[in-house]
Amino acid sequence: MIYHMFGKITLSIIKPDAVKKGHCSSILSQIVSAGFDIIALKMTELSKNSAIRFYEEHKEKYFFESLVKFMSSGPIVSILLEKENAVKDFRILIGDTNPINAEKGTIRHRYATSLEKNAIHGSDSNQNAFKECQFFFPSREIFSKKDKNFL
Ligand code: GDP
Repeated sequence: MIYHMFGKITLSIIKPDAVKKGHCSSILSQIVSAGFDIIALKMTELSKNSAIRFYEEHKEKYFFESLVKFMSSGPIVSILLEKENAVKDFRILIGDTNPINAEKGTIRHRYATSLEKNAIHGSDSNQNAFKECQFFFPSREIFSKKDKNFL
């Protein structure tokens, strides 16, 4: 169902720090204002094991254990977004991983409090966007305006 969207979707997560502080609506508003269509969305939480699976590619990094603990520490909001050049444009919108280096006005510049607690996730490649989308959303939970059966 989403194969035809390859290259036009990205997966975002509002991380536990930003959910806890009540930043969801401001962040979602900034995302939509930047031209992204929300095509799937849910508030959920990651068990320790699902956080390990989600961040598998970082398992050798020194910060892996801490990252897994943080990402499974509370509710998150996972969001599937559609736009031309979604992955690249969204990485620009969220800013650098480290908020100290994030451009003014980016989501991480506004809401991140540390390199780890950096408020938001965005896929870093089209392949990962696709994988991460499948991690969170079965196709019946995805609603693109571009699909002819939408509403
Ligand atoms: P991203 O693609 O910008 O999210 O960055 P990475 O894929 O490199 O890292 C994944 C996540 O791990 C980041 O968003 C941070 O939450 C966390 N992280 C990255 N680098 C570090 C680090 O050096 N220390 C700690 N504690 N966390 C980090």
